[in-house]
Amino acid sequence: MAGAAVLDALRAAVGAAHVRVDDDLSAYEVDWRKRYRGRALAVVRPASTAEVAAVVRACGASGTPIVTQGGNTGLVGASIPDPSGTQVVLSLTRMNRVRAIDAANLTMTTDAGCVLQAAQEAAESQGLLLALSLAAEGSCTIGGNLATNAGGTQVLRYGNAREQCLGLEVVTAAGEIWDGLSGLRKDNTGYALRDLYIGSEGTLGVITAATLKLHPQPVARCTALAALPTLDAAVALLQLAQAGLGAALTGFEVMGRQALALVRAHFPQRAQALPPAEWTVLLEQSDSESAAHAQAAFETLLEVALTRGLISDAAVASSAAQSKAMWHVRESIPLAQAAQGPNIKHDISLPISAITRFVTATDAALLRSFPGVRLVNFGHLGDGNLHYNVQPPDGVEAAAYLQAHETAVNKLVYDSVDAHAGSISAEHGIGALKRDELAQRKSPVALAQMRAIKRALDPQNLLNPGRLL
Ligand SMILES: Cc1cc2nc3c(=O)[nH]c(=O)nc-3n(C[C@H](O)[C@H](O)[C@H](O)COP(=O)(O)OP(=O)(O)OC[C@H]3O[C@@H](n4cnc5c(N)ncnc54)[C@H](O)[C@@H]3O)c2cc1C
Repeated sequence: MAGAAVLDALRAAVGAAHVRVDDDLSAYEVDWRKRYRGRALAVVRPASTAEVAAVVRACGASGTPIVTQGGNTGLVGASIPDPSGTQVVLSLTRMNRVRAIDAANLTMTTDAGCVLQAAQEAAESQGLLLALSLAAEGSCTIGGNLATNAGGTQVLRYGNAREQCLGLEVVTAAGEIWDGLSGLRKDNTGYALRDLYIGSEGTLGVITAATLKLHPQPVARCTALAALPTLDAAVALLQLAQAGLGAALTGFEVMGRQALALVRAHFPQRAQALPPAEWTVLLEQSDSESAAHAQAAFETLLEVALTRGLISDAAVASSAAQSKAMWHVRESIPLAQAAQGPNIKHDISLPISAITRFVTATDAALLRSFPGVRLVNFGHLGDGNLHYNVQPPDGVEAAAYLQAHETAVNKLVYDSVDAHAGSISAEHGIGALKRDELAQRKSPVALAQMRAIKRALDPQNLLNPGRLL
């Protein structure tokens, strides 16, 4: 099928109004970090699973590659087309319904294009909690969250997106519909197909709906900030908090001095409750009794931490508004980094016991090899996940600096990650950004199995070619 014929087939599948070929498709062709720019043959916006299946069949008949896109907030260049002008962007944003909430089963079923925040709000309206939360939640979609196996700020207690998902509906690369929308917590009937699609970054199938676990809403949430002299102290505080609060500890975020300095510079209106410190930790507790109970538990914990010299200062939020303000500062870090300009991001995970050694060794090696770089370090310490980012030296043209040094900086950081038994992608995925690193660093046996799965499920290499593998 030639280009025009594919477009006709796509128009027949979803209606001419939902096949966009106009000049300004930049919202679909440029990634959130503005690092990748592609060109689409067309942007197709189906309204139902049947229409998605028809689109995939039309593309399959002509060998036209498909890039599935949700909210386009991904950070590894996997959600936009390549520059060839031959790939179709399959945008699921019209499929944005919450299909059902089963309160007795503690599950909800949503379309894949449902925005995460809308799904959270629907659960909340029934007194229930969808325990997935990330700074992009106002734009990212359930399909994108599952395709990237997103993490976020509540993994410590509830697990990442994979652990929130009980069932999926998927359009396969052959254009067939697999209805696996089960709300079962136990189902040992062979291979866990659901888990193959989760984290596959749009390379194995198109997720069109999901059944997600819900939890009772906590009665109260309480947030605290603590200032610490060292990262080691933050790791010790984590252990103390886990022992003292148990499952009530739902968040433990660490923020380095430079990370919060960027927020001060770019968002001065966002007041920070503590003065600058080497490290600041944000702790969150979800309590099943009351706000007063949560606050008292925090105060006890922080007193012990002060006595042991782990923390030098602390602030406990005394209202929901204060809690929100503390989280707002944490969530502003990626935005402040984006405002500061291009930087070299590393979304890595490490055994928590190795984090201090990793940071000490890697900071020193980076500053030796790349004098003047600013290390912007923050992340989900409770999950062993650091956003270990390298900002070019002051006064240097950032784009040119990245061009000259990014490969060498990445090698140094990822060699150190490997040496400390970590992972080069904790939660953002591989996409285009880390594809070549993965090929070099993942075990050849694992890679061979991944390629075999890709060939079996997508023999035409139709779905997101060139990403991940
Ligand atoms: C400010 C900010 C903060 C963030 N914080 C976090 C964080 O804390 N934790 C975290 O894990 N991530 C975080 N992210 C990145 C995260 O990956 C995304 O925000 C989110 O999970 C992607 O959802 P999306 O709908 O935007 O997907 P997109 O960006 O549109 O797509 C991402 C990938 O999923 C695929 N995909 C999308 N929808 C489907 C589908 N229906 N079926 C199959 N494949 C699909 C795409 O092809 C692509 O490979 C953050 C991003 C931003 C911008």
